[in-house]
Amino acid sequence: MLKSVLIANRGEIACRVIKTARRLGLRTIAVYSDADADALHVAMADEAVRIGGPFARDSYLKMDAVIAAAKQTGAEAIHPGYGFLSENAGFAQACAEAKIVFVGPPASAIRAMGGKSEAKALMAKAGVPLVPGYHGDDQDPARLEKSADEIGYPVLIKASAGGGGKGMKVAQKKSEFRDQLASAKREAQNSFSDDRMLIEKYLTRPRHVEIQVFADTHGNCVYLFERDCSIQRRHQKVIEEAPAPGMTVALRQRMGEAAVTAAKSIGYVGAGTVEFLLDADGSFYFMEMNTRLQVEHPVTEFITGLDLVEWQLRVAAGEKLPLAQDQLVLNGHALEVRIYAEDPDRDFLPQTGRITHLRFPAETAHVRVDTGITEGKAISTYYDPMIAKLVVWDRDRGAALAQLRRALAETEISGLVTNTAFLAKLAGNKAFAKADLDTGFIGRHEKELLPSVPAAGDEALLLAATGLLLSGRSVAEDDPWSVADGWRLYGGGQDHLSLIDISGGQAIHRIVFDYAKGGFVFHLKKSTMLVTATLSSEGRLGAELGGRRVWAGFAKSGDDVTLFLDGASYRMRQAPIAMEDEGAEAAALRIIAPMPGRIIAVHVAEGTQVEKGAPLAVLEAMKMEHVLKAGHSGTIEHVGCKPGDQIREGQELLRFAAPG
Ligand code: ADP
Repeated sequence: MLKSVLIANRGEIACRVIKTARRLGLRTIAVYSDADADALHVAMADEAVRIGGPFARDSYLKMDAVIAAAKQTGAEAIHPGYGFLSENAGFAQACAEAKIVFVGPPASAIRAMGGKSEAKALMAKAGVPLVPGYHGDDQDPARLEKSADEIGYPVLIKASAGGGGKGMKVAQKKSEFRDQLASAKREAQNSFSDDRMLIEKYLTRPRHVEIQVFADTHGNCVYLFERDCSIQRRHQKVIEEAPAPGMTVALRQRMGEAAVTAAKSIGYVGAGTVEFLLDADGSFYFMEMNTRLQVEHPVTEFITGLDLVEWQLRVAAGEKLPLAQDQLVLNGHALEVRIYAEDPDRDFLPQTGRITHLRFPAETAHVRVDTGITEGKAISTYYDPMIAKLVVWDRDRGAALAQLRRALAETEISGLVTNTAFLAKLAGNKAFAKADLDTGFIGRHEKELLPSVPAAGDEALLLAATGLLLSGRSVAEDDPWSVADGWRLYGGGQDHLSLIDISGGQAIHRIVFDYAKGGFVFHLKKSTMLVTATLSSEGRLGAELGGRRVWAGFAKSGDDVTLFLDGASYRMRQAPIAMEDEGAEAAALRIIAPMPGRIIAVHVAEGTQVEKGAPLAVLEAMKMEHVLKAGHSGTIEHVGCKPGDQIREGQELLRFAAPG
């Protein structure tokens, strides 16, 4: 076995690799950027080396800095994790030249699969089935459009260097082709400095099914079954599971063997994943091979009972694969959800900010939480906005789903918008429970899934107000004159506070109440409601509302309040001064910038009539283009931005005229 390993990565995957390496007795070395000096992976490792500034290109992508860190600490091997340098053939080469073991395939195998176009050409030769398409060198837009015409619409325009769904656009019809090509090229140029495109037939209801393969340096290669990653947004995985629902033994074997053929044809070593699109009729097509450990590898670990990082380290040390194909067993069902800092209700825009409150379910034989973040830390624009992976296992899919729903209900994150409530809706969705899966699932079920967090109703508002009022009490419990319980010398009087429902379209709610014994009497529009409650220092709010007992989570940071109730998290802000009730209708007239960025295009002018869902403007943020769409039909009254504008989060971009 190896004696030491440097992990050239950050976040959850760095932490996850460190855990296994440590269990196997290896000395672990972390590297970090200035933005990560107090990150969890740094604290977990035996040693840590600073490698540069916060931008990935100045640190985690800087090959010589990583290699120098390995030399300086005498690291025998480098584990690249996923992303960053993990699929960089030059880095694998540089490790080899520096006599450091690269925990991954040889540079030649990475190179072979590096470009989607080149990989496809290779796979065609090896007899692995491909989606009909054009992956040639001639990049003349006319040539690309001609091949799209030949393939037949809809087509998918994909960056050859692509990854993470960037530089990938669908052209539904010929008239859309040139615009979508231009947009894909811009994104690809921005993200990969390479805007070569390939064109593919766009399958309308495929499933994403991928095969985990493993090869050693002794000529052995096995497949560790499949994962279904069909639940995607913006062509990016959201939920992954293993095994794929409905998979037959025969199809599994055919796909598994095709994946092994692909791996063997390029002299593969280590962990890899061959991604396929699976059509309704059982035909499957090669998409790409990821020559590294995948984000979603834990579901495979759960159903096989294996530790894939342990296998990686053993193979890197020159050992044989621990098991042969016929020794591998598949047991039960596992699901993984990716918890992201993103706003599902605004087209899944990535979010940044500090995590002010963080609770995960306890880890058990059924629940695993992979994360690299702790309370108080920030999700910045420098790196991927994934906060954690929640992975569950049980004897079958139904039982695993029940585990997932529970685990999500026990997850509380505040300080920034996450997709947790959206994931909870997915986990509770009937069609998902029936495993009616394909990559268009989220789009097709949008009405049931979004908005993921409804506008706060009376119950959520009163609980948030109660939490706020109770949290104010802890200031000086024993001094009756400073306790904020509203006790007044000359008898009680009505008081009020204003809450802005941030997730519910910024509506302002004025809440009027009286102080009562053990709680408050709230004056609603037509009735009153007595709420008695206690708030623990851990943020557990136990309340009785009109005779009903409820439990909620409550977190407060400055003026921001988050209430966790029945799997949803309501974000609110206490208005510094009393504000008048504005209501959701007025708030819905404003189009607010969901995050900082740059305006690329504005599709409307003052006086334009738009239908619900019509594109209004395009915002570029975190290297992706996001289309802001009309939430309802109406007339644009005011346009407050133009292409090229750099904008702040929360800035008003457009305003609708009030109806009537
Ligand atoms: P990336 O490397 O950017 O993640 P992939 O090539 O892996 O891009 O594709 C990501 C996802 O896009 C797939 O999982 C699938 O949902 C969708 N996709 C890719 N190619 C096609 C296609 N030809 N037809 C339909 N959907 C596709």
